[in-house]
Amino acid sequence: MTRIAVIRKEDCHPQRCGNYLCIRVCPINRKGDECIFKADDSKAGIDEGLCIGCDICVKKCPFDAISIINLPEQLDKPPVHRYGRNGFHLYNMPVPVFGKVVGIIGRNGIGKSTALKIMNGLIIPNLGKEGESTPKELIAFFKGTEVQRFFEMQRLGKITMSYKPQHVDLLPKSVQGKVSALLKKADGAGRLSDIIGKLGLSHLLDRELSQLSGGELQLVAIAATILKKANVFIFDEPSSYLDIKQRLKISSVIKELATADTAVIVVEHDLILMDYLADFAYVLYGKETCYGAVSLPKAGKVGLNSYLSGFLREENIRFRDTAIHFMPATIHKKPKNPVLTSWEQMKITLGSFLFSAVAGELLRNEVVGVVGENGIGKTTFVKLIAGLLTPVSGGVTTPISISYKSQYIDSSSTDLVSVVLKRAVEKYTVELIRPLQLEKFLLKQVNEISGGELQRVAIAHCLSQDADLYLLDEPSAYLDVEQRLLLAKILRDFMENHGKTALIVDHDLLFLDYLCHKLILVDGTPGKQGILGSVQDIASGMNHFLERVEITMRRDAETHRPRINKPGSVLDREQKAEGNYYG
Ligand code: ADP
Ligand code: SF4
Repeated sequence: MTRIAVIRKEDCHPQRCGNYLCIRVCPINRKGDECIFKADDSKAGIDEGLCIGCDICVKKCPFDAISIINLPEQLDKPPVHRYGRNGFHLYNMPVPVFGKVVGIIGRNGIGKSTALKIMNGLIIPNLGKEGESTPKELIAFFKGTEVQRFFEMQRLGKITMSYKPQHVDLLPKSVQGKVSALLKKADGAGRLSDIIGKLGLSHLLDRELSQLSGGELQLVAIAATILKKANVFIFDEPSSYLDIKQRLKISSVIKELATADTAVIVVEHDLILMDYLADFAYVLYGKETCYGAVSLPKAGKVGLNSYLSGFLREENIRFRDTAIHFMPATIHKKPKNPVLTSWEQMKITLGSFLFSAVAGELLRNEVVGVVGENGIGKTTFVKLIAGLLTPVSGGVTTPISISYKSQYIDSSSTDLVSVVLKRAVEKYTVELIRPLQLEKFLLKQVNEISGGELQRVAIAHCLSQDADLYLLDEPSAYLDVEQRLLLAKILRDFMENHGKTALIVDHDLLFLDYLCHKLILVDGTPGKQGILGSVQDIASGMNHFLERVEITMRRDAETHRPRINKPGSVLDREQKAEGNYYG
């Protein structure tokens, strides 16, 4: 059995733990050997050869900086890459397949971006040793595998990559100027007008990159990636910030990109999208921040179902104790709760934006999803029911108090997370702090934590405020699949326990399906007109929404997860004829 010791260097503070507490408590060190030592960077280091796995240092370290892990026996080879001694280890590699879209699925911090960077040549793997490996060593390491062929092609200059990074919000920091200039520069294959048309970008061409919203930046980054002359295209989380219509649009364009001479790789947490896109899938499993291992390639559906089941049959590896199942939507139906607030048909004009809503009501103790494009009036609606805006006609029976988590979260604050979450720590340790796994970074500053961590902080902050109604705008952004499903459960339990109501604006249909009792659709034209429809139960809401976007879905027999039917397929035609878009 192979044992690895990982020290999260950013969490190791030898001066604050009482001068290398781990060294002082380690039984091997006490006997006189140097199992734990002061590393060159003045942080702790662990010699895995001497470690007996007693876990004393793991338990004693006040900053939770150490993990000692016994790897599954199947991982008996050295890692492909290791971020230094006692750093994160990556085992095995995914490879692109020409003519196909290959999906990579796994938790945050499990090595997906590391694998992409290796493929892209941004990281030269070290095979678990000091220093970069030579191309010869790499080829020998992967002898007889698809990975070997890939590295050989790379060495011969036969691979040209085009890469869309995960964090599009950082784009304006590295590239300045107008959208049109960026896209013209990227256009190596002469497809500019085609892609501008397909992704609906013409209205953005004259805009400066620095003026774009998250969703607009995402579309521009995807367009630039597609336009480059390349034969391997990599998309790291292409759906973030995009509404559902945009997600479906980019999926078609990305799918078309895989031809006999090109390969596409996608990392994505929106499972419906991933299912629709991927011909093959690799599952990444392991322990976040410690190690990640890449499964064998699987047919798309099999890969996603294995991921949900937590078991890799071919490899005989169980990587999660429980399987994830999706309830059919009808199970969400429940007896009627008391009314929280209701409204008559109402209208308001804000500058040139017209907003109208049909009459409706919100009940206590329910979670209501809101589906609509960005800029279509969701916040206007919430301000109306909170009494912060007065409609020109119609109105709200009982104005209620709200707590709001916005779509964009300020990550620049130097406040400690524990200060921001003071109220949540005082009142909701069991309900929010622990299940959202916030304890680990309470002592970090807000500007030091990752996007997914920041999202969970913002959610806990929002829920810890006293209010009748909680509005969460895109709570799934930056969360991985497991975190999304866990969040769904936390939100449902919170509303149930406190008799409160939540409105969830999100674009991940699977998350909404799993979380919500009801659904509201908002139609119109962003920035011009918003028309808020009736509050419907989740099944009919989804049905209406899918009818509008002309897509049908069925449920997977094994996991009950919704899957998009291939347009024009027998099922698609049958379900459309029956008006059953959400099978
Ligand atoms: P994912 O893309 O699956 O979220 P990453 O590949 O970004 O995961 O990271 C996997 C782990 O590797 C992270 O949790 C982090 O601990 C570690 N890591 C990433 N980049 C570096 C780096 N440059 N130096 C040291 N460790 C890193
Ligand atoms: Fe101290 Fe923990 Fe670092 Fe060891 S790993 S030196 S116990 S902070």
